[in-house]
Amino acid sequence: MDEKLVCPKCGSRRFRVISLVAVEQILENGEWSCSEFSDDGYILSLECADCGAELDPELLGYPTQKALTSQLVEVVVAYPYQGEGGVLLGVEKGQYELIYVRPSDSRYAWPPEKVAGAICRALGLHNFGVATLDKLVLTAGHFPIGSWEEVPAIVSKMGMGDFTWKVVEQKMAAFSPKQALREGYQDWISDPKRARSGEVDFGVWWGLQDRDFCYGKSPWRVSWIEDTGELYARELTSDRYIVLGVYPTRAEVEARMEGWADDLDRMTLTHFFPEVFKQA
Ligand SMILES: [Zn+2]
Repeated sequence: MDEKLVCPKCGSRRFRVISLVAVEQILENGEWSCSEFSDDGYILSLECADCGAELDPELLGYPTQKALTSQLVEVVVAYPYQGEGGVLLGVEKGQYELIYVRPSDSRYAWPPEKVAGAICRALGLHNFGVATLDKLVLTAGHFPIGSWEEVPAIVSKMGMGDFTWKVVEQKMAAFSPKQALREGYQDWISDPKRARSGEVDFGVWWGLQDRDFCYGKSPWRVSWIEDTGELYARELTSDRYIVLGVYPTRAEVEARMEGWADDLDRMTLTHFFPEVFKQA
């Protein structure tokens, strides 16, 4: 890991790192704040802890979401016939599923390369492969020379099981705990529908992932807004917040929060609100 990592904008050596396993850690002068980073942690984002500049997570030299995604999926374009085509999404080597067919009678449908390119960009993959008819025949073991419309049936024989594109999307969503963290608390709370409302507080010493409030980690406050029913957490030393759910009545939010103060070890947002951080 690069101990000389310096923020190109402000020169700070303190970074906020969001990963799959630890959710958030501070890296200062090459030292991890509270716990060592494990090699299978998969870094999702890297930003300067002082000015907020976003840096390429690959700079750290640990596996990133990009590496994880490439292990999961491979995008392949197949051309059974000239002028026809489809995009195949391969999940783990050799197992393909058809996700796009360009109708042979449509002049305006996206060509498969364009679809594959868009998918690769969305998933952070480097590039897509191209499969010829020969390769498909070899993989499937059997390819009746008919029409392109038969490809889905052949692809289904390749043994994808129930691993569909939808499942990949869900897995991708589950890999993004960062999406729960939002910037702009002051703007959000100043909206008149919230600013004029009464609030009910549920404690100010919540941890994000643990309650080890050592250097660089701030406590969070959990509150419920009467008028909007929103239950939220805000980080006390920043402008970040998390919407934890909507509970229209006080009785409902108190039922959800029951026992929150009974056990200090449970007073972490990821443990008490797993539904917010695990989307799949
Ligand atoms: Zn900076």
